[in-house]
Amino acid sequence: MQSKQSKYIFVTGGVLSSLGKGIAASSIGMLLEHMGLKIALMKLDPYLNVDPGTMNPYQHGEVYVTDDGAETDLDLGHYYRFTHSPLSQKSNATSGQIYNNVIKRERRGDYLGKTVQVIPHITDEIKHRILACAHQEGDSKIDVCIVEIGGTVGDIESLPFLEAIRQFRNERAQDCINVHVTYVPFLKAAGEVKTKPTQHSVQALRTIGISPDFIIARCEVALNDEVKEKISLFCNVKKEAVIDAVDVATIYELPLHFHAQGIQEMITQALALPSKPCDLSAWNLMVQSIKNPKGILKIGIVGKYVQHQDAYKSIYEALHHAAVHHGHKVELVKIEPDTFYKEKSFPAAYQGCDGYLIPGGFGDRGWEGKIVTAAFCRENKVPYFGICLGMQVMVVEFARNKLKLISANSTEMEIETEHPVISLLEEQKIVTDRGGTMRLGSYPCKLQRKSKAYEAYQKDEISERHRHRYELNNNYRNDFEKAGLQISGSYEDGGLAEIVEIVDHPWMVGVQSHPEFKSRPTEPHPLFCTFIQAVIEYARTN
Ligand code: GLN
Repeated sequence: MQSKQSKYIFVTGGVLSSLGKGIAASSIGMLLEHMGLKIALMKLDPYLNVDPGTMNPYQHGEVYVTDDGAETDLDLGHYYRFTHSPLSQKSNATSGQIYNNVIKRERRGDYLGKTVQVIPHITDEIKHRILACAHQEGDSKIDVCIVEIGGTVGDIESLPFLEAIRQFRNERAQDCINVHVTYVPFLKAAGEVKTKPTQHSVQALRTIGISPDFIIARCEVALNDEVKEKISLFCNVKKEAVIDAVDVATIYELPLHFHAQGIQEMITQALALPSKPCDLSAWNLMVQSIKNPKGILKIGIVGKYVQHQDAYKSIYEALHHAAVHHGHKVELVKIEPDTFYKEKSFPAAYQGCDGYLIPGGFGDRGWEGKIVTAAFCRENKVPYFGICLGMQVMVVEFARNKLKLISANSTEMEIETEHPVISLLEEQKIVTDRGGTMRLGSYPCKLQRKSKAYEAYQKDEISERHRHRYELNNNYRNDFEKAGLQISGSYEDGGLAEIVEIVDHPWMVGVQSHPEFKSRPTEPHPLFCTFIQAVIEYARTN
């Protein structure tokens, strides 16, 4: 019999950061979902910022936006790509939000005379956020809530979260398990793998009162029985509960690797959940196509943060999904536009790609380099996909070179420009706070039937997520349309242009939204798919 209570899996990390805790948590979620369980994933982030929205992408990587407009950690993107977990502001909590809420209540007098210090309210608030995530879906109950704790055990700032999950489990012993993700290095000189860092990490967890039920060990060489036995003995977990997460060819292979080790059965058993076999055939097929591409497509990514591998994470994944859908593989050519902003034309050294994508961004660094990229693509009929800022680039380029408004610009780059073809809406002009004040979250968009956008989506109305302040200036709308820049998608209630395309071009499309947030390897995004289709066509004929 299935228990009425939601179950909880807490995922912590030790030894090193960047071990792929988010991918491990997502893989567990994916397997449980394939067993017919309704899951929700959640990330607790120990940093003191309220959200990552105001952080530099170099430090934080991408900001993942949910339908309800929360600016969240990029691990939520993994959750989306691996599972169908609901994702909203309930799916990510930071220390900053927790402290902010508690301190606001303290100042308001909510705790007057009740406690001397607010610390217990901090752990209560964290537990409250976990419960809120597990109960977010109204009547359709969430069976399992998987809670990933950011950072590494031993970090001072993650202590309140670890204390909260210790208490949470103490209050619901039957309904919780702990999974600890660690690293088992292979020492070349010694010719063997080393378990000591894992032992130390588990010791550190135990000092806080948490004992893991499962250990997921990241390793370059698969763990043999002897190593598993050693970890089992010293870390006090069953041998079968030591799961190896050896480096795999693609992250999407990880759930298959976990499945082969039976983690899903052991978890459902530990949580007294019904266990059904998983049908992983579609997923398997997808992984096989990733591993056997028919051809390689070179896509130029022209953005300020190309050196950081996580800054455009969802875009890279979405390109990858669409390429796999067409049986291909993408090779990303990372182009830094601030290296050629003074040049009048797109440098020959970067011209060999089969298509170009300009991702979202803020500020004027690299702006002029992006404009010459768009000019090159438009004039030479090379596929171009502009996302958010990339759409604004396309609009400014068209205004300057086609409408001959040579001084046209976005007011973000040049506030007093004579032709503000991209500008702020009146309501944005009075906003002074930077955090959480953009146009955020999902908005509906009507598509014109005769357009590349419609060809992609095959729907009259779509919905995508936003994160920007500036908009196409409607005063120029007619001039654009007359000259061949079609506005193929609009948010009608707000009178805003959402999608633009060059009519006389095989595929040059710009979207004000971020479609990359809604692509899965098994459900690639339609716009990325049609872009890749055009890229394949270009590669074939050029
Ligand atoms: N900086 C632009 C704006 O605020 C684009 C933002 C983005 O690309 N996400 O409108």
